[in-house]
Formats: sequence, C-alpha cells, structure tokens
Amino acid sequence: MTGPADRDLRRRAEAVIPGGMYGHQSIGLLPDDYPQFFRSGSGAHITDVDGRRYLDFMCAYGPSLFGYVDPGIDAAYVKQLSEGDALTGPGARMVELAEGMVSMVSHADWAMFCKNGTDATTMAMMTARAHTGRKTLVLAKGAYHGAAPWCTPRPGGVIPSDRAHQQSCSYNDIPSLEAAVAAAGDDLAAIFAAPFRHDAFVDQAAPDPAYARRARQLADERGALLVVDDVRAGFRLARDCSWSRIGVSPDLSTWGKCIANGHPLSALLGNDRARTGAASIYVTGSFWFAGAAMAAGIETLKRIRETRYLEHIQDLGETLREGLAERAIAAGFGFRQSGPATMPLFLFDEDPDLRLGFAWSSAMLARGVYVHPWHNMFLCAAMTPADIQQALDAAEGAFADLKASRSSLGPVGKMAFLATR
Ligand code: PMP
Repeated sequence: MTGPADRDLRRRAEAVIPGGMYGHQSIGLLPDDYPQFFRSGSGAHITDVDGRRYLDFMCAYGPSLFGYVDPGIDAAYVKQLSEGDALTGPGARMVELAEGMVSMVSHADWAMFCKNGTDATTMAMMTARAHTGRKTLVLAKGAYHGAAPWCTPRPGGVIPSDRAHQQSCSYNDIPSLEAAVAAAGDDLAAIFAAPFRHDAFVDQAAPDPAYARRARQLADERGALLVVDDVRAGFRLARDCSWSRIGVSPDLSTWGKCIANGHPLSALLGNDRARTGAASIYVTGSFWFAGAAMAAGIETLKRIRETRYLEHIQDLGETLREGLAERAIAAGFGFRQSGPATMPLFLFDEDPDLRLGFAWSSAMLARGVYVHPWHNMFLCAAMTPADIQQALDAAEGAFADLKASRSSLGPVGKMAFLATR
C-alpha cells in the first residue's frame, strides 16, 4: 500500500494521463506498495511524495552517476542557465563537450548531441544507412535500444514496415550472429550490440570477446558499421566505450542517461569512417543545442576523468554482491546476481512469475531500500559503505520475511507485460 499523497496523485493521474502513467513507470510493473511519485532526490536517496526516504538502487534508471542534486555539477548547470540555455544557436559548451567526449572515448573522432538515448540510437541507425546506402540492421533479440517505432519492445502503434529490414540474433551466440548477417545478404547497414547482455527479466551476461570480435569482423567484411549502444552502461564499466575493455572498437557508440548526471543530454559518437554519413542526415530538436545540460556534461566528464568514482562503485558493488550471496545462502534461497557489480540484476531460482522477487523487493522497500525485481539496477558514487551495510541488513530481514511467507505468496497481479515474455 502506498501513502495517501501517492494514492491521490495516482487517482488524479488516471484522469489526465493515459493509463495513469506510461513507459517503464506504467502501472503494475512494480509491486503495489512501490510509490509512483517522488518529491525529491539527494545523493544516493530519493524521497517519495509521502515523505518516505529510500536508498535508491535505480539511480533514475541510470542518469544519477554522482548522486542526485550534485552541488558541483548542478552549479555548472545553473550558471549556464543564468547565461542562457536554449538559444537560437549553440554556444561554446557544445564544442567543448564534443572535444571532451572525443578525448575520452577511444574509438570516437566526432560527437553529435541530442536529448534521449532513443535519439542517439535512431541517429546511429540513420548514419549507418546513409553511410552504406543499405537498409538492414542486425539486432540481438531482447536487447533494448529505445522507444521509437523501429525499436520499442511493445507492439502498440507499431506497423510491420517499421520493423522491416531487421534481422535478429541471440547475444553472445556467434552462429546466430553469422546467420543474421547472412540473412541480411548484401543489404547489411549495421550490427547493433549491447555492451553486455542487459535485457530485462533474464540473467545478465558479460560480452564474449569472441562474439564481439566476430561482430567487428563481419561488419568489416560487409562494409557495414558496428554500433555499441552504451546508453545504459556508459561510464559504469569504463571511462571509455564499454567494449574498450575487450579490445573491440565500434564505428559508432550511443550515450545518454548519466553523461550529464541527470540533465537531459545524449550523444552519438563516431569514427572518421562514419563522419560523412553522419554529416548527411538531417536530425535536430528544439532543445538539442541547449547549453545548460552540456555544461553539466562537461563537469560530469571532468569528474569521471579526475576521480576514482568507478573504482568506488565497483568496490561497493562487490561488497553488496558478496554480502547478499551470504545472506541468501543462509536463508536457503537460490538468489542469482548477474551483470557487472555496478549494474546488478537479482532474480530468484524457481520464480517463473516473479512472486518471490516482488515480495523480496517489497520487503526491501519497507526497510528503506529501493530495488527492482526484474530490471538491472545502478550504483552511484554518492553511495557509501554504510549505505551498502544498510542494504545488507535490509536484505537479511527481507530474506527472513520471504522465508516466512513463501508458501502463502499469491501470483503477482497486473503483470500483462510479463505474461508475454
Ligand atoms: N539504449 C539502451 C541500452 C537503454 O537502456 C535505453 C534506455 N533505457 C535506451 C537506449 C533509450 O534511451 P532513452 O530512454 O533515453 O530514450
């Protein structure tokens, strides 16, 4: 049961927002006691509209890398805002930011900026098609690249021609990648790759370097472009493109979420091979040249370069992982933790309809820790060892609750989304 202020907003939203809410915050995707509406965020915490404060392992689904309302980054934002944000044309911040991204991301020679990850992935698709003069994309089944008709995971409002010219493969499965490329024939424009397998509802998996190298090789053989979609994982695995860790350079990479620590900014980065194609596409938006988010992005990049934030969140993530594994074993649960320590996903064994995951997540929430039952989570640099200890203490209690209630748990309601998985 959520609090009275949340319930009131839900009731009012039902009248004026289709479905009461949409996208990843749609009603019913999370346990019923999860708040829908939040009042504020600070550092590693969020406060819901009823004043309940949670240690937040979602980080706004990624954008908060250094914590909410970071004073230094927000000061850069506010300063630029006071001088002008969306003007008739861009300012110096745009060039400075492009220089910053290009200097940090080893495969990149140029950058283009936009607002959402979907803008960046759609631009990657267009750039690849413009570069090759071909149509077909190879995409991994279940990988998320955004919410435009060509890539949205749900069928509503999408017509078959939106999804024409796509071949699918299975992540890390070289024969299926080869088959998809073969099916594209002489029409292959791009191979899209997630930096690691971070699909919802299933265990995450690191990229097999042989798979990544084969993707590079196939793109080269066919004259197609290789795209790494780093919108979600960017800067939580490396201070470079995530595939730099396995020595594979894409032609294009897409970025968003945390690159301006919560301010609206995304980017398409590319190498010189893709430059002419990128220059030929017409893409823009009313707010794409706005300087305040770019100023926040410049400050965020500086922090990424100059601090040990990455090592810090990796250490915290490892401590969390080890502590959770011990507590799950002690309570007798098969509790699978997958993905990088900085972006974990938790799933229970023998839990096909997620009733264990929902109940455990609710028990965590009741103890002030916001976790997600089927989507990967995110650590941020504002978290401390004491926060991780709080999460572990909460988990001990949540596993105990689950053990006590396990036999009486009913099916999870309203999960039409899951029924189709
Ligand atoms: N690609 C990936 C891998 C993502 O995780 C997301 C967002 N979850 C997107 C693209 C789309 O980004 P946005 O929601 O900002 O449009």
